Amino acid sequence: MADLERSFADERVGSLLAFGAGRSYGDAALNSGGGSVLMGRLDRFLEFDAASGSLVAESGATFADIVDCFLPRGYMAPVAPGTGFATLGGGLANDVHGKNHHHAASLGQHLAWFDLRLPGGELRRVEPERDAALFQATVGGVGLTGIVERLCLRLQPVPSNAVLVRKRRIADLERYLAAFEEERDRADYVVGWIDALATGRKLGRGILEAASPAAESVPSTPRKARRVPIDLPDFALNALAVRAFNQLYFERVPAGGTEQRVAYRDFLFPLDAIRDWNRIYGKRGFHQFQCVVPFASGERALAGMLALTSKSGQGSFLAVIKAMGQAGLGYLSFPRPGYTLALDFPNAPGAREFIAQLERIAVEHGGRTYLAKDSTLSPANLRAMYPDLGKFQAVLAEIDPRGRMNSDLARRLGLKESRR
Ligand SMILES: Cc1cc2nc3c(=O)[nH]c(=O)nc-3n(C[C@H](O)[C@H](O)[C@H](O)COP(=O)(O)OP(=O)(O)OC[C@H]3O[C@@H](n4cnc5c(N)ncnc54)[C@H](O)[C@@H]3O)c2cc1C
Repeated sequence: MADLERSFADERVGSLLAFGAGRSYGDAALNSGGGSVLMGRLDRFLEFDAASGSLVAESGATFADIVDCFLPRGYMAPVAPGTGFATLGGGLANDVHGKNHHHAASLGQHLAWFDLRLPGGELRRVEPERDAALFQATVGGVGLTGIVERLCLRLQPVPSNAVLVRKRRIADLERYLAAFEEERDRADYVVGWIDALATGRKLGRGILEAASPAAESVPSTPRKARRVPIDLPDFALNALAVRAFNQLYFERVPAGGTEQRVAYRDFLFPLDAIRDWNRIYGKRGFHQFQCVVPFASGERALAGMLALTSKSGQGSFLAVIKAMGQAGLGYLSFPRPGYTLALDFPNAPGAREFIAQLERIAVEHGGRTYLAKDSTLSPANLRAMYPDLGKFQAVLAEIDPRGRMNSDLARRLGLKESRR
């Protein structure tokens, strides 16, 4: 903590930004030419009240730390993103959501308070009701209001270390959206994998996973992480290879579906079991596009995006779809009621231009893309997608008149530049 205070006092450092675990896909955690404050070592759990489930933690603790430490005691993080490596501070700054968003909303809704080191160096306890504007600017505020040192999160009591997961094949997009409706009140967690290369009558086919806490635990076995040993060559991800992978993946679940108890960790963080999974995209890496579009026009928007993707030859095999619930509390929170679609694209020639077309469809339908995943958005589209940007900027103008906090994302998107 003392080092953190010194960083704020030292003017030679220039601009500052917290760096959590670097699990954002784009430039949200980068601050070229300025100072990065590495939060990973501020990772202690400080207090826990079993009656209320309130956990006070330092912001560098991770979601996996909560699973490791509290699941054996019968508590679980109310919301967890798809990787346990993410820190709680990083989760707060992106107001992360999990596979249970329709049921539990996003992280901001589960915070009692957080301690924020403001850009001027002062430490302030921020509560949602007593300091509403600063709370709303910081939750989902991509680190630009200061550095969260510790936070109080309400954990969920759970009956076991596992969830009961039902998997079934879904034939097309229309049935997908109907299945989300069916599962909304039935399952705590609902998420779908989509075959983004399927066309015609199969457009939007995939595998739906619906899960709820299991009454009984599964034996806890240490997780053996596998590793992608090399950067794969470009041809490994051409459209033909992805099409073959998608066919196999679809057929892996029998036509009648499956039901199985699965440990929370394996269900919530599947990619964490494959170290360096990003190397399958080769040395040039990849972009992820994630949008949410309102329910009313969602089917048309998704059909447009999927048709474009399957035609494009831009092979996306990690495609995820789900229905979201309540809007996030932050001015720049991503979640809002609607369907969210996430697609990965190798960073090949034409990928950025292609993603710009998907962004255009999202804007036309009143949707938005997720800053935690973004590497391609334009300042104009940001303004169209985030109508509370002006409120966010008004808070920054008040607490950070000298512009101490900054990031590559903020500079690229003009996040701090108000245009009246
Ligand atoms: C495999 C995978 C799956 C994912 N699945 C999901 C998902 O299902 N849902 C979802 O919402 N997201 C998901 N994400 C995105 C990820 O959860 C977010 O990007 C999250 O913010 C990463 O946390 P981090 O600790 O790595 O933060 P970083 O990426 O290091 O930083 C993210 C932002 O938080 C700020 N920040 C970090 N710590 C602090 C602090 N202490 N105080 C103030 N600001 C801080 C940084 O400045 C930056 O702006 C996924 C990412 C991966 C790699």
